[in-house]
Amino acid sequence: MSRILIVEDEVAIADLEKDYLELSGFEVEIANDGATGLERALSEDYDLFILDLMLPEVDGFELCKRIRENKNTPILLVSAKKDDIDKIRGLGLGADDYVTKPFSPSELVARVKAHLARYERLISSNIVENDIVEIRGIKIDKTARRVWVNGEEKQLTTKEFDLLTFLAENSNRVFSKEELFREIWDMESIGDIATVTVHIKKIREKIEMNTNKPQYIETIWGVGYRFKV
Ligand code: CA
Repeated sequence: MSRILIVEDEVAIADLEKDYLELSGFEVEIANDGATGLERALSEDYDLFILDLMLPEVDGFELCKRIRENKNTPILLVSAKKDDIDKIRGLGLGADDYVTKPFSPSELVARVKAHLARYERLISSNIVENDIVEIRGIKIDKTARRVWVNGEEKQLTTKEFDLLTFLAENSNRVFSKEELFREIWDMESIGDIATVTVHIKKIREKIEMNTNKPQYIETIWGVGYRFKV
């Protein structure tokens, strides 16, 4: 349930806003002055703030600025004067929206819903799911660079990880040692393609039950390697 903090010194207005928002299924709390509002806004978790501009102690402008310095939570400003809108815009306080009194409670509820939905989309779009490759008992988390074989985590070096991931992502394709060397090691480096053989051997020791009968990375004699599907 979304939690909303209303900071409003006019009790009747605060109660009206609270009633309508609660009817729409929100959890609502009220602070009747700016100082209390600020303290609660910064110390507790809310999903949206509704701030009156004219408040005792800390006014809505200051409150909005201070909250925005600390949180990205949507802020809706409530103003008694139309003139305030220009001031709000001019100050760049970071408010998401504003309504002027008198406003219809249903308009307030509609705006609250719109901002909560927008904010939720914003949050969920920032959550990046880990990029996972899974083939038969092997699970490779490309984001966290971790590998599991049948649920047991294996420690691979950077190049071992890169090589295994490349083969697994291109499974069933055969790559020559030269191709793998070019792919995984620095293009410029004058390396020994035997490095590839050494790394394949080490990977097998970590992921294969029996290195003599590899289930994952297969040697194609005279050609190279492939990850069996
Ligand atoms: Ca007021």
